[in-house]
Amino acid sequence: MHNQEPSLADIYLARRRIYNKVIRTPLIESRPLSKLTGSEIYLKLENLQTTGSFKLRGATNKIMSLEPEALEKGVITVSSGNHGLAVSCAARELGIPATISVSTATVENKVAAIKNMGAEVLMDGGTYDEAADVANQKMNDLNLTMIHPFDDPDIIAGQGTIGLEIIEDLPEIDTILVPLSGGGLMSGVALALKTIKPSIYVVGVSMDQGPAMVESIKAGRIVEVDEQPSLADALVGGLGRENHYTLNMVAKYMDEAVLVSEDEIAAGMVFALEEHHQVLEGGGAVGIAALLAKKVKHPGKHIAIVISGGNASMPTLMDLARSLSS
Ligand SMILES: *Cc1c(COP(=O)(O)O)cnc(C)c1O
Repeated sequence: MHNQEPSLADIYLARRRIYNKVIRTPLIESRPLSKLTGSEIYLKLENLQTTGSFKLRGATNKIMSLEPEALEKGVITVSSGNHGLAVSCAARELGIPATISVSTATVENKVAAIKNMGAEVLMDGGTYDEAADVANQKMNDLNLTMIHPFDDPDIIAGQGTIGLEIIEDLPEIDTILVPLSGGGLMSGVALALKTIKPSIYVVGVSMDQGPAMVESIKAGRIVEVDEQPSLADALVGGLGRENHYTLNMVAKYMDEAVLVSEDEIAAGMVFALEEHHQVLEGGGAVGIAALLAKKVKHPGKHIAIVISGGNASMPTLMDLARSLSS
């Protein structure tokens, strides 16, 4: 009993549902990046989204589409941080209870922010996949509604509203760079853009340690990867035990996959700080990192980068600053 893949119409419906709950973030030109690359480079600043990442779009769309009985019982999810924060925020906005299962490896500032939103936090899994098992158990026990972090048509449609905003602001767009983990962001953004303008070239960017989606697409099935700590903590984690939507959608829409190293991610974060005075988390900086490292094979003339989040911890930022001055 599964729904169909979302359509462009679902993304427009999502926008109607969430427009007064999320920020229409700015798309700014990065003149320094344009100069370096010889293309026009634009940054879609979802680090400025409420909760500090794009995940509020999908979470809000999903929760606002639930039946009243489900809302009353409450929602549960597993998260590496930003999705949990988004679900907590959307749940609080609607006055319903939220439970968030995070792995013990989750960055502290994100756990603190989730607790601050008033959600209940479970910390019983050592890895992302174990935290998912914890969440599934609790969901069954208490009859809660699972808000999947990426593999859900309403989540994908919510993230897809970013694609609508980008093409409205930059109709000339020919290339999009999207951070890639579970693929909800890419599925939604690429669905919107390629349906409206099929010639757009879609580049997914993951970290080179444990890129679960890229490995799974290569293998044609879900591949389990080792979870290594990364500056791009929001990109760490597997696809889970099964996948109904994003593996197919990313395989269909992605034209090129780029992997970036920890040093390249750090360089992307530093670039955003120095040149744009924007604080990005590692996952939010991988698109900049890919361009700086000249790793995109077919960069176009009008390139947009989804800057997916800005929830970097203070210790991480201080390490970054220290590595610069040494
Ligand atoms: C969740 C997240 C991603 C990846 O999104 P997916 O839908 O899982 O591919 C990228 N960047 C940030 C900051 C995120 O929070």
